[in-house]
Amino acid sequence: MANKISRIEAREQDPKTRARNFEEVSFGFTPQEAASEASRCLQCKNRPCVASCPVSVRIPEFIAQVRAEDFAGAAATIALDSLFPSICGRVCPQESQCEGSCVLGIKGQPVNIGKLERFVGDWALAAEVSGPAAIPLAPDPAATPPTTGAAEAAPTTTLPARNGHRVAVVGSGPAGLTCAADLARLGYEVSVFEALHRPGGVLVYGIPEFRLPKERIVAREIAKIVALGVHIETDVVIGRTLTVDQLLDDEGFSAVFVGSGAGLPFFMGIPGENLNGVVSANEFLTRANLMGAFEPCSDTPIFVGTRTVVVGGGNVAMDAVRTAKRLGSQASIVYRRSAEELPARAEEIHHAREEGIDFQLLTNPVEVLGDESGWVRAVRCVRMELGAPDASGRRSPVPVPDSEFEIPCECVIMALGTSPNPLIASTTSGLDTNRRGCLVASPEGATSRSGVFAGGDAVTGAATVILAMGAGRRAAQAIHEYVSSHSFSS
Ligand code: FAD
Ligand code: SF4
Ligand code: SF4
Repeated sequence: MANKISRIEAREQDPKTRARNFEEVSFGFTPQEAASEASRCLQCKNRPCVASCPVSVRIPEFIAQVRAEDFAGAAATIALDSLFPSICGRVCPQESQCEGSCVLGIKGQPVNIGKLERFVGDWALAAEVSGPAAIPLAPDPAATPPTTGAAEAAPTTTLPARNGHRVAVVGSGPAGLTCAADLARLGYEVSVFEALHRPGGVLVYGIPEFRLPKERIVAREIAKIVALGVHIETDVVIGRTLTVDQLLDDEGFSAVFVGSGAGLPFFMGIPGENLNGVVSANEFLTRANLMGAFEPCSDTPIFVGTRTVVVGGGNVAMDAVRTAKRLGSQASIVYRRSAEELPARAEEIHHAREEGIDFQLLTNPVEVLGDESGWVRAVRCVRMELGAPDASGRRSPVPVPDSEFEIPCECVIMALGTSPNPLIASTTSGLDTNRRGCLVASPEGATSRSGVFAGGDAVTGAATVILAMGAGRRAAQAIHEYVSSHSFSS
């Protein structure tokens, strides 16, 4: 019986070794391991795993192809729904999405869908089979899903001729890149404007190398999009260098997609947050990932003390604390709820624990304490207990009376979440935002301003890579319909 075989986990670097380097933690599957893990899939007719994937990757089909060692076919099948399998296989919260609904997980261990998808994506990058010619056009939502392998699901292999229309994309994260790729395949001339000096958004500046290799994976995935004819212009801040209004009125673009993410960090508002040694996780990770700050000769050095406290419990907090550990600091997580509520991916929490990260759970900082020269010396915290559920359905943490204590440290990293930067909304006429500062957009990405579409974290607030990709794809379709139904001179 297929479900009697134990789930195959990918081999990983030894925790003690990897806690001192930035190399990727997981080695991924070999072809034999992939085929063997694929053989566990029951090929369920009702496909609960597909229903729980935000972009409905045809999971049973691609797994059947992996089992048959038709890796090119599996790559073509995934490409019908997802542009970046190497990335999503690494960073999707599979336990709450595809794998969370796998029937094998009811009494045992779900199929390792994430590692299978990563294997296929990496195989395709290595074999260079998912280059522009092999990436399909955005699928027709009304089309019947293929029931057999890739040959039947064969993607369109020639790029359509240019249709004479230009679309501008603001931001080169997963939302912007997906939108740009789909529009390019529909014949648009697409220009992506990116504020930073490297494209990729959080994929390059946020998620560390030990989880998502930059050159080996992200740069090669972006190269596939450039090969579609998408033009990426870096160091252009829309709202400063050029405005959205100028793109539409003066620069000849028929529509604009805003995928500018949510890069503005929250702080706690507690005393001592302005001391030297307190930093946002976004700044800390950007310095490490994008500016190579851990190199001794870096122009933008990074500070970690011998002891670092990271406040928060999400992926960003795990990435920051594990980066601090790799930079030689004793590193602790301080999180106000319990282990069950930690919002980070299960794999990252597991890896962090293996690497020796200290978890101070049900603990909340109330003050950052400084020394006489204005540098952090400790965080004063209070123990918490869980009370009644709050608006999100989670039990609210409440302070335990007389439980204050200090955690000595020289560096405090705040990983409390982010909101969209207000720059674009404040420099674009007629663009509505909600009370959280997010752009207001329909599920298809239409904003309050005609010709301006938006998606990803800029609309939802901090969310996930796959949700941003899904939003970029839906917006590309909506932009196509908008441009097709308006008369623009081309
Ligand atoms: P972004 O990826 O933020 O890209 C937006 C881009 O727009 C950026 O490059 C930015 O520089 C650019 N930009 C902003 N303003 C302007 C402007 N005015 N002009 C030009 N360009 C502009 N998600 C997961 O699914 N799994 C994970 O494990 C995970 N880990 C994460 C770890 C960290 C440290 C962080 C920060 C996030 C993580 N996320 C994770 C969340 C995920 O990365 C985001 O939800 C996703 O990247 C959002 O994509 P996006 O395209 O909307 O925005
Ligand atoms: Fe699972 Fe993400 Fe792949 Fe969907 S895209 S199947 S959620 S890993
Ligand atoms: Fe295979 Fe699990 Fe999906 Fe069933 S639910 S088709 S076993 S991956």
